[in-house]
Amino acid sequence: MNDYEEEFDGLETDCVHAGEAGDPQGAVHGPVYNSTTFRFDSTAELLETLEGGHSGAFYTRYGMNPTIQALETKLAVLEGAESALAFGAGMAAQSALFLTHGRGGILCIGDAYGGTIELLSAQLPLLGIPTRFLLADELDSLEEVLDQGVDLVFFETPTNPTLEVFDITGISDRAHAAGALVAVDNTFATPINQQPLALGADLVVHSATKYLGGHSDITAGAVMGSRNLLEPIWSWRKNLGQVPAPETAALLMRSLRTLAIRVRQHNASARAVAETLCEHPRVTRVLYPGLPEFAGFSLARKQMHGFGGMVTFEVDGDGDETADVVDRLRLFTIAPSLGGVESLVTQPVTTTHYTMAAEERERRGITESMVRLSVGLEDVDDLVDDLLQALD
Ligand SMILES: *Cc1c(COP(=O)(O)O)cnc(C)c1O
Repeated sequence: MNDYEEEFDGLETDCVHAGEAGDPQGAVHGPVYNSTTFRFDSTAELLETLEGGHSGAFYTRYGMNPTIQALETKLAVLEGAESALAFGAGMAAQSALFLTHGRGGILCIGDAYGGTIELLSAQLPLLGIPTRFLLADELDSLEEVLDQGVDLVFFETPTNPTLEVFDITGISDRAHAAGALVAVDNTFATPINQQPLALGADLVVHSATKYLGGHSDITAGAVMGSRNLLEPIWSWRKNLGQVPAPETAALLMRSLRTLAIRVRQHNASARAVAETLCEHPRVTRVLYPGLPEFAGFSLARKQMHGFGGMVTFEVDGDGDETADVVDRLRLFTIAPSLGGVESLVTQPVTTTHYTMAAEERERRGITESMVRLSVGLEDVDDLVDDLLQALD
């Protein structure tokens, strides 16, 4: 990890400068160290690097590569963490996190990304790892479930696709009282809108494929937290071979320089889109944490600095009629994923929740007439006009 003096307060400043100063040639933007290994002048020097707490250049799969390390400095500073580890995908970050800190039991609260649900419900149990699930209306039994043996409490906030907001401080206090660690998937909010570590969580995990990458051109992930908690994750990442390629690390580094300004525009445009949808007679419900009538609004206002770029709404019609609205959109591209400069649209029942049984979807409040928007950086009036023509 390069040194970065935390003498400036602004997140914009961190986005631009954190992790950027370490290049020995003085390159303003660090080069891509496309080298799998690094040379030593003597055995003593090699041993010194090996004993230096993974901070030197050594072998790229270990993450001991200057491009990856520069990225990790920036990632750590953005989440206000002591340390960060970069990964080749969000799922790589999550699986390393679960295998390291969840072996005695994992509790997932609320809805979660499809891959996360599959990993927790179908795959980790094959390794003998007990996993449990609680939805928002079952949180009264949190202590009871924690007592059954839970090492790690995991949740997204806001969640996909219903944008449910969970109380990071409240859940962390209750989990800590039972001796469990808390990890928050901060993919939807980004550190610009929400900093889970400052609110009491122990670990943050990201799919950097989304807003952190921001241009739908890289797959990557990250875990942030204390050095102590990250040290054992480092070993799993090393031996599962989960580091990002140096090219990917450099691209993500470039993306992060504009993260704050991108996210603020996503926030503003999504709010405008949500407010427009609220007014439309063919829209029966709008789910957006920034709307005063939304259930999670007051909590979101307390723990978030912005409400994000994701908007979910329901059309007055069945699944086919909803698909007609989606198909008439011209600026919103039909594609899974989110967080890029371009606006995307999906129906959760045909993408993220396609394989989920109908009763389970219903329990999670996911309907056939639900549409999820990732509001991009196009002119917001163009986006609103596109939605209006598709609905009319
Ligand atoms: C996309 C996503 C993931 C998985 O990330 P990948 O980079 O695709 O592996 C995990 N959590 C959330 C909330 C996501 O949106």
